[in-house]
Amino acid sequence: MKIIAVEPFLLHVPVSGDAIADGSHAIRYWGAPGVRIRTDEGRVGTGYTGTHAHLPTDRAIAQVIRDGYGPLLLGQDPREVRALWQRLHRASPIQWVGRAGLTHLALAAVDIALWDLKAQAAGEPLWRLLGGAADDHLEAYDTDGGWLDRSDRELVDETRARMDQGYRAVKIKVGSDDPARDLRRVAAVREVLPAGARLMVDANGAWDLARALEVGRQLLAYDVAWLEEPIWYDDLPGHAKLARTLTTPIALGEQLYTIDAFRDFVAADAVHYVQADAVRLAGITEWWAVADLAHAHHKPVVPHIGDMMQVHLHLAWAHPACALLEHIPWMRACFVEPATVRDGAFVRPERPGAGTALRDDALETYGVRV
Ligand code: MG
Repeated sequence: MKIIAVEPFLLHVPVSGDAIADGSHAIRYWGAPGVRIRTDEGRVGTGYTGTHAHLPTDRAIAQVIRDGYGPLLLGQDPREVRALWQRLHRASPIQWVGRAGLTHLALAAVDIALWDLKAQAAGEPLWRLLGGAADDHLEAYDTDGGWLDRSDRELVDETRARMDQGYRAVKIKVGSDDPARDLRRVAAVREVLPAGARLMVDANGAWDLARALEVGRQLLAYDVAWLEEPIWYDDLPGHAKLARTLTTPIALGEQLYTIDAFRDFVAADAVHYVQADAVRLAGITEWWAVADLAHAHHKPVVPHIGDMMQVHLHLAWAHPACALLEHIPWMRACFVEPATVRDGAFVRPERPGAGTALRDDALETYGVRV
């Protein structure tokens, strides 16, 4: 099997309720710069990364895919994905300008498309190719009802709606300008959750260390399962201090690009819940290595879903460090087999491939010219 074409694409998909905000970001669209890789046997592999739909940088990612990695892929066998990953990751002129950032996001899209082809060629869904079990169970937690721009009333109503749908775990955003507002909202949500339901909070890096310590101590009253990205993403000593000082476990990883970064956070015991994201790391190849790293340190992996769940559903289904996966449904309409939650747990995907196959009308409806 040989690669004969590397074709980038770009989707901009609206978020729930026209706009969402957290402690650091306000967005209206989710971006998916991606690639379709064609083979001489007529197969098409699809991969993509996840962005805040910023057109100039999305186009730059697409250009790195087409003009940076494309020539290195033509004529290669996509099933040799780990070897190809090494070659692309070590490609001298590209690693010189970026072993993280948008070149890494471009490599994520390529790697996922290659794994999609490998799984298709094997006639298996990716989770089975990776050794997962058909009778596994993967609990879902919802993030899409807890945005910072929602009123207290909307937040409580959304939480109740999720419980009615069968969820037993939700995450809400904190990190607003007023910590009293954050705590009031945590209390209001805890109040309506049934006994045993898990509540997580996410500051998206909005606090400084002093505020994180102060608010973090007060979270103890509300039985919060984890505190996510309390401070600036790369502040390793700050997170280590929080992990040592607070009783509430620390979760992070959605803004770490490399296995080297995860190694350092894990070695410093600065993280408990490892939120590796295959579209921020350079794809499935690097994600799996990070998940193994976490597993070797007996830390749970709860992926961040920059892919809107499609690939991570397969990864979490297969990897022994994963028992819980985030749910945000923004890109459902794009996929042939969209990730689906029923009674609070994910439905097992069945289609051969990595879950990334796009519906015929996805590019028509959400496509943006690269
Ligand atoms: Mg987060």
